[in-house]
Formats: sequence, C-alpha cells, structure tokens
Amino acid sequence: MDLHTVETYLCPTQLESLPNWQPGWAWVAGGTWMFTEPQRDLTTLVDLQGLGWSELEVSPEGLEIGATCTMSRLLQFDYPAAWTAIQALQSAVQELASFKIQNMATIAGNLCLALPAGTFAPVMVLLDAQYEILQQAGNRVWVAASDFQTGARQTILQPGDVLRRIFIPQALLQWQVNYRRMCVATAGLAVAIAVAAYNPQTHQVRFAIAASLRAPRLLEFHSIPSLRELEETLSAQIPLTEFIEDDSASALYRRHITQVLMMRSLQQVIGE
Ligand SMILES: Cc1cc2nc3c(=O)[nH]c(=O)nc-3n(C[C@H](O)[C@H](O)[C@H](O)COP(=O)(O)OP(=O)(O)OC[C@H]3O[C@@H](n4cnc5c(N)ncnc54)[C@H](O)[C@@H]3O)c2cc1C
Repeated sequence: MDLHTVETYLCPTQLESLPNWQPGWAWVAGGTWMFTEPQRDLTTLVDLQGLGWSELEVSPEGLEIGATCTMSRLLQFDYPAAWTAIQALQSAVQELASFKIQNMATIAGNLCLALPAGTFAPVMVLLDAQYEILQQAGNRVWVAASDFQTGARQTILQPGDVLRRIFIPQALLQWQVNYRRMCVATAGLAVAIAVAAYNPQTHQVRFAIAASLRAPRLLEFHSIPSLRELEETLSAQIPLTEFIEDDSASALYRRHITQVLMMRSLQQVIGE
C-alpha cells in the first residue's frame, strides 16, 4: 500500500547519525504490517535494515536475536540439539496466518506490533526472554518479555525507543515444549494460543497463554497439574473479564478454548 502521508524515508547505518526523533516518525523493520494499513499520522519512516542488527547467535548463555532477524532465518538456523524449546519459536513462525510474510517479517517487529494474537510474544514470555531497548534518552535497558506488552497494540516503548535485541537464556531452552493455536476462520487471527513447557527432570510445568487476552500471561506449576488444578488456577489467576470479548468469540468461549489448548499442549509435552 502506498503511504501517501509519508514524505521522508531514512535508512541510517548508525543510530548516532539520526536527527532528533520527531512526532510522525516510525521505525520500519520488515514492513509487512507497516505497508498493509493507511498510516495517516506518519510522515517519516526510519528503516532499521541499514543498522546491521540481523544477528542470530548461540552462546553458552543462550540465544540472541537481533532486531532485524527475519522469521525465515529463525527456521533455517542450526541450533544445539539439547535446545528442544526452539521448536516453540519455529511453531510461532509456522503458525502465522500468512506464510508469505516470513521472508521479510522480523521477530522484533512482531513483538513491537503487540497484537493480542501475536505468535511470538507468548513464546518469549514462556522462555523468560529479555529484551534490550535503546531509549530515545540514550539509555540501554533490559526488560523481561512479560513486562513488555501491556495491552492490545500497546508496549512499554516510548516514541523513538527501539527494540534492539532479544535474549533467551539457555536453561529454559532445554525444556520440552508444545505450541497450540486456534482460529475460528482458516486465515484469521487466533482466538486462543497456549504454549506449554515441561522440565522432565523436575516435572515443573509452565504455560504462556495469549490471543484470548490482550497481552500474554504466564502460569506456573511445580508439578504436572490435573485438569481440575489447571481449571482452578486459570480461573483464580485470570478473571473472566480479562478475556477478550468481540465479534470473533465471547470471553467465555476464549477461556474454554484456552483451557482445552493448555490441556492438549500439556499432554503432548509429558508424552501422554
Ligand atoms: C496477511 C498478514 C497476516 C498476518 N497474520 C498474523 C498472525 O496470524 N499472527 C501474527 O502475530 N502476526 C500476523 N501478521 C502480522 C505480521 O506478523 C507482522 O506484519 C510482522 O510480524 C511485523 O514484522 P515486520 O518486521 O514486518 O514489522 P513492521 O511492519 O516493519 O513494523 C511493525 C510495527 O513494529 C514497529 N517496529 C518494528 N521493529 C521495531 C523495533 N525493532 N523497535 C521498535 N519498533 C519496531 C514498527 O514501527 C511498526 O509499528 C500478519 C500480517 C499480514 C500482512
């Protein structure tokens, strides 16, 4: 789509060379969302691609994903065999409504867009990811994935702040994972997402749920929960009023489907 209000396109190779951030400016990464909707408030796009932030790096500490790393790169990379939880990241790519965007869209762009049905945010919350943010004021801060998305299309980013990289610690990358997503229309956005992670040594279980809520949430269990425990914990920790009610599905339906997906993903990770 032609963004007819945009008059200036900047593609810096260093952040320092960028003029002061102005109202009407926006970052663009893969552009797969940016160019699909009219952006009437925008006058300037600042392209991240020239900054060379596309790293995907494995270290003994964990996995680092740069701001312009694409989704398809995440699928093709060679990871340590012990990192079974990479499967959840790869499912997040494969579960996107459109496979056509994978070569351009970035993981960071998906997180910053902060759709309730965003496929990556629950995985990052599940795996205790941390995000490095470069603030307009010049500070670098690290925030937990669970604190980043605050609502539907809302994050803690202030105008001009940029998500520089994502870090996933290696400990949780060794858990067994399973990703479940449910839509009411074949190519539509999800009404519920549940991702389970299981530690076969300690029998701890954690779930991240999304799409049925405005922002992803984490639920943790010290041992494998029964269906009843799972139902009780879900009801106790997340009131029905927090589930999204819209034309696609009622809050009650979303909560029910969330629970079904949690149970199915749990059965899968514990091998039942
Ligand atoms: C047909 C179609 C179907 C889709 N279906 C789904 C779906 O089912 N699930 C889903 O999760 N998504 C879906 N999407 C959205 C898609 O995943 C996003 O378009 C993509 O993830 C955004 O990545 P991008 O790199 O292209 O971001 P861009 O389009 O470049 O940017 C998206 C937003 O993030 C901001 N931004 C980007 N990078 C940064 C950064 N590093 N720091 C600060 N701000 C930044 C931009 O300013 C913009 O507001 C769909 C999109 C299309 C076109």
